[in-house]
Amino acid sequence: MKDQVVIAGAGIIGLALAFELQERGERVKILMPEDEAGTATLTAAGMLAPVSEADVEHLHLVPLALDSLTRYPDFVARVQAASGRPCGYRSEGTLWVALHRDHRAELEHLLTFMDHRGLSAERLDARSLRRLEPGLSPRAVGGYRIPADHQVDPRALRLALLEALDRRGAELESGCRAVGLELRAGALAGLRVAYGERREVLPCTRVVLANGAWLGHDFDGALPDCGVRPVRGQVLRLAGPVLLQHVIRTPDVYLVPRADGRLIVGASSEERGFDGRNSAGATHDLLRHAIAAVPEIAELELEEISVGFRPATRDHLPVIGATAIRGLFLCGGHFRNGVLLAPASAALLADAIHLERTDAALAPFSPRRFEIQACPNRN
Ligand SMILES: Cc1cc2nc3c(=O)[nH]c(=O)nc-3n(C[C@H](O)[C@H](O)[C@H](O)COP(=O)(O)OP(=O)(O)OC[C@H]3O[C@@H](n4cnc5c(N)ncnc54)[C@H](O)[C@@H]3O)c2cc1C
Repeated sequence: MKDQVVIAGAGIIGLALAFELQERGERVKILMPEDEAGTATLTAAGMLAPVSEADVEHLHLVPLALDSLTRYPDFVARVQAASGRPCGYRSEGTLWVALHRDHRAELEHLLTFMDHRGLSAERLDARSLRRLEPGLSPRAVGGYRIPADHQVDPRALRLALLEALDRRGAELESGCRAVGLELRAGALAGLRVAYGERREVLPCTRVVLANGAWLGHDFDGALPDCGVRPVRGQVLRLAGPVLLQHVIRTPDVYLVPRADGRLIVGASSEERGFDGRNSAGATHDLLRHAIAAVPEIAELELEEISVGFRPATRDHLPVIGATAIRGLFLCGGHFRNGVLLAPASAALLADAIHLERTDAALAPFSPRRFEIQACPNRN
């Protein structure tokens, strides 16, 4: 029988991968530290936005993002069936809203980009916008609708994945961190792990590091130099009557309505290392922009301010695949779109591990791209 696959990290990426590996008949063990502060999955808004997030600097990501969105309904159906828990997947689409002339110019620019890439968006005047979302500010001057941008509730999806994995016999090792590698003749022979101050070696021949913004930090092992860093994001959770049906985005803020009446307002984007404090300034800015878009938001209860670390690599593309060390895989660096990218990342990497054959779709995301980048000599 094949050795179990050990996965370090129980965010959406590690858990989705564990789920897909189990679906292929593999045994999995998942390592989860006690302290989950800063876990991006617990903060994320859950927008599944391959169109809105399409970006000229990262065009390789667009096919993976569209593929992942296509996989979402089936992925969620399988997780729900295996766990008996809902995941909060919704497909009403996203409305981009301009509140003034500058916004309108910015949205025109985005629309042109989408048109050129064949990504579908439908232009709306102010009246049509307000017909779809009566709570929008009378100041809204127009916008567009993106039917293909959906949403899921990342906290609900994570709980459902944990339940599904547990029911199918995954080993969930909590209070345990991966801290280094044990190698023998260039191949993986074990993972060094820490339970608080106590250290041990876990013998294993297949490991996936899926520990988000912590990938490579405080780790004793020759990993490719992906330069993963945390990009802090602050998000507000408001509670009260349901005000919106669609995800609403302006160039300043996004509003993501949940079925239970909660409204997610996000997000800041800050280079502060692993500083997990929230700030008055970010909360003020988010509320100001949210209330400008939907005035009744002022009446909602401010239930929670949460902080998460987006995992960003040097080139802002994910790292998914095998490393030069036999048996060691990385799955991380999903930056702003890890919730969206989870089903495709997980299914493609699970196939690569299980079948020992990597799909061409993963080529742009190979961890090995960071191994061969010596600078040319300068005179
Ligand atoms: C404010 C904000 C809003 C976002 N909104 C969206 C959105 O709308 N849509 C979208 O698609 N994406 C969004 N993202 C991005 C998305 O959340 C991330 O890309 C995704 O959650 C990354 O998942 P992950 O599992 O790699 O990392 P994480 O969710 O951070 O999980 C990493 C896990 O690894 C654990 N860990 C750390 N060190 C170790 C170790 N040494 N050993 C074992 N485990 C370890 C951590 O405790 C953590 O549980 C958002 C992110 C933020 C911060």
